[in-house]
Amino acid sequence: MIELHDVDKVFQRKGITTRALNNINLRVERGDIFGIIGYSGAGKSTLVRLINALETPSAGEVVINGQAIGDFNSKQLREMKKDIGMIFQGFNLLESKTVWKNVAIPLILAGKSKAFIAERVKELLQLVGLGDRAGSYPGELSGGQKQRVGIARALATNPSILLCDEATSALDPQTTGQILMLLKRISHEFNVTLVLITHEMSVIQKICNKVAVMEQGRIVEQGNVIDVFGHP
Ligand code: ADP
Ligand code: ADP
Repeated sequence: MIELHDVDKVFQRKGITTRALNNINLRVERGDIFGIIGYSGAGKSTLVRLINALETPSAGEVVINGQAIGDFNSKQLREMKKDIGMIFQGFNLLESKTVWKNVAIPLILAGKSKAFIAERVKELLQLVGLGDRAGSYPGELSGGQKQRVGIARALATNPSILLCDEATSALDPQTTGQILMLLKRISHEFNVTLVLITHEMSVIQKICNKVAVMEQGRIVEQGNVIDVFGHP
């Protein structure tokens, strides 16, 4: 579960103060597919970076699975980061490494044995439908296939939370639909909590059960998708 209590984030740069987040209160339950929608500059990425502990709040607290991030020691922080996977609009794959290696990297960094890694990577690539592409390089894949590699890599350490930052924004509508269905299946099969940042209403309507609407650093509406937006 993810909770934000009275969170502010203020950036100071070159004498300019930007209030990126203004009194954010948010509650994401285990297994939710939670959409965060808003225009560019609304504060969505900043919010996700706080959940992922890449930024610290200027005020308020971020609570992950019942514990405030601010109270974590460095070991707990490392454990927490393994429990949160991320996928990105630009995929962020290592272009000079094979699909296999891209997915294996989090497991190598986590110090897993060769036998464990071999088994797990195989399982992950099958899960995302790329069982036959282990030896390919990202440059040989389509956008949808690259994002499948991104998803496999994000799931490698078996996280309970997957943060998706405009994960389908670079994809055509048909591929977007396929990736969203894969994410939904993963959420249900492994009880993974999904947080999806998007500027596209169709993404919210397709798979989210809850939504927060952001404008200028504030959440202006939050709740069940059907209550906030009505039936599609
Ligand atoms: P979104 O993801 O919705 O496009 P962001 O969270 O990226 O919004 O940005 C929210 C606001 O905070 C913007 O005005 C942006 O310029 C500002 N901002 C984000 N990160 C920084 C930073 N590191 N330093 C200064 N300002 C920032
Ligand atoms: P590097 O990135 O150092 O060039 P490679 O990506 O070629 O390394 O592979 C490093 C190790 O990863 C290999 O020794 C092998 O054990 C494993 N490996 C790489 N590709 C595959 C694959 N397609 N199937 C199974 N194991 C692989």
